[in-house]
Amino acid sequence: MWYGKKGPMVDNNQFVETHAHIYSSKFKEDIADVIERSQEAGVSKIYMPNVDHESIDGMLELENKYPEYCIPMMGLHPCSVKKDFEKELYIVEDWLSKRPFVAVGEIGTDLYWDKSLFELQKEAFIIQCNLANQNDIPVIIHCRESIDETIEILEGMANAPKGIFHCFTGDVEQAKRIIALGHKIGIGGVATFKNGGLDPVLLEIDLENMVLETDCPYLAPTPYRGKRNEPAFIELVAQKISDLKNIPVSEVAQSTTNSALQIFKS
Ligand SMILES: [Zn+2]
Repeated sequence: MWYGKKGPMVDNNQFVETHAHIYSSKFKEDIADVIERSQEAGVSKIYMPNVDHESIDGMLELENKYPEYCIPMMGLHPCSVKKDFEKELYIVEDWLSKRPFVAVGEIGTDLYWDKSLFELQKEAFIIQCNLANQNDIPVIIHCRESIDETIEILEGMANAPKGIFHCFTGDVEQAKRIIALGHKIGIGGVATFKNGGLDPVLLEIDLENMVLETDCPYLAPTPYRGKRNEPAFIELVAQKISDLKNIPVSEVAQSTTNSALQIFKS
């Protein structure tokens, strides 16, 4: 039994974890326990975004070990877009042609680390949006310090794919533009931070536009902020939405689960 902040979970809330890097070396020692806690917390599926060629083997190993529970995506993370990104994209394209994946992710732009690579990131992002369209699957978008830029790229595309803006940290206006593009907003641990700034978004945006995620091992929700994050903590994110919107956690679980399954079509 896993204990949330309000005691043991006794109901049957089912969550979908839409973004977990559980193939990270941070879980190497105790992945079986992490998965067990995740299942006890009611997480019914864990979707794993890819980063680059180095993360693929570990991700597919977890899929093998926990079939239909740990579900891989395929894509090139914007922070792994370097001058030789075409080599990386070839690997992504090759995997997408070899077997089915539920989404192209995570892809997008990142102006937090190295702004000089933005044009290359943009190119890789657009190519991968087209790959998603060709495979008729959604995109999972990363946009750190670059929400407006990423929204503009999608708004400028004739046939922009739908999906999830993961780890959303923007304002209500940005959220509305994202929803107008047919995307869901990925809500994670930042929503529980005192200075996270997401309360207006959680209050003003309809629940049906949100999905839950942890982005583990990063961004653990309060009271675990700064520690290793894991899928079982998703209940704390749901609890925060429930408290703010003054609705039961079960309603948050049901709506976000439906939305996630609708996006991933599985
Ligand atoms: Zn991620």
